[in-house]
Amino acid sequence: MSAKILDGKQLAETIRTEIGNEVAEFVAKTGIKPALAVILVGENPASQVYVRNKEAACCKAGMESLMFRLPSETSTNDLLALIDKLNADSSVHGILVQLPLPKGIDEKQILDSIDPSKDVDAFHPENVGLISQGRPRFLPCTPYGIQQLLVRYQIETAGKHIVILGRSDIVGKPMALLLVQKGKDANATVTICHSRTADLPSITRLADILIVAIGQAEFVTADMVKEGAVVIDVGMNRIEKESLDEHNQPCLVKKLVGDVDFNSVKEVASAITPVPGGVGPLTVTMLLLNTLRSAKQHSGKVNYSVF
Ligand code: NAP
Repeated sequence: MSAKILDGKQLAETIRTEIGNEVAEFVAKTGIKPALAVILVGENPASQVYVRNKEAACCKAGMESLMFRLPSETSTNDLLALIDKLNADSSVHGILVQLPLPKGIDEKQILDSIDPSKDVDAFHPENVGLISQGRPRFLPCTPYGIQQLLVRYQIETAGKHIVILGRSDIVGKPMALLLVQKGKDANATVTICHSRTADLPSITRLADILIVAIGQAEFVTADMVKEGAVVIDVGMNRIEKESLDEHNQPCLVKKLVGDVDFNSVKEVASAITPVPGGVGPLTVTMLLLNTLRSAKQHSGKVNYSVF
């Protein structure tokens, strides 16, 4: 039987409408327009697309988007000076530095320099610590989007065995932190796997929910998935695939694929996210939500933790 498709694009639209309404209400009440500063250093083509998407999404939700495009030869000190300025600017509520940064810039030093109360990506050690203790200020955007996807599709996590492939600071580790918490929308038993995990398929086959974030095109195949499991594919890989042109001649086409072999796995799973149109649109959506929450926190009209 073919799996149910978890439509992240549609869900993102729904949540963005909710955010837009909340923004309008907040602006009407306080006169404060939530503002996100996005810093892009260098010419990475994928980053340019992500940044444009973030800018457009902000504007559509009624928020201010402040773009800072800097040349690739920007020094760590120059970038620190810009972040200092944005930290001190009370009209800015969120600061995001698009990763990866060009070689030569100290990424850790840059991320650590963002005021934690404006760190809407939730990468600052203070925010990671708060998440780990179950009292988050912000939730990291991709894991938060995945958690919302599970909640809104009424996929229970409590008592379930969730296997996460990948242990990055952006997806794998914070995803595990969210789902292992004692509380609502969590309470899962979590296993994290990585490139040194022995006999990976024997572990992935135990998963009730399998979350894959490894950056390896179509790596997870049907034989690695338990019948009826829910499969969340975070991967975004641009590959060339064989196809036929208009004259029925073989040709190569560029394609965006996930870390999961969608066609085989959808025959085993009970539900699955597509790529594109799954997790991706939710990541930007949660960034908007974090920026709105930051604006509320800075306005002094809500409690410290809004979760
Ligand atoms: P990353 O920093 O490159 O980390 C990859 C992780 O996968 C590492 O922990 C690595 O293990 C593990 N891994 C790699 N190959 C493996 C294998 N063959 N078997 C088991 N584990 C393996 O990646 P990331 O930043 O988390 O991103 C992962 C993917 O998600 C990428 O395709 C990225 O583009 C995508 N992504 C999508 C979104 C979205 O919004 N949709 C957001 C973020 C990332 P080691 O630690 O042992 O090296």
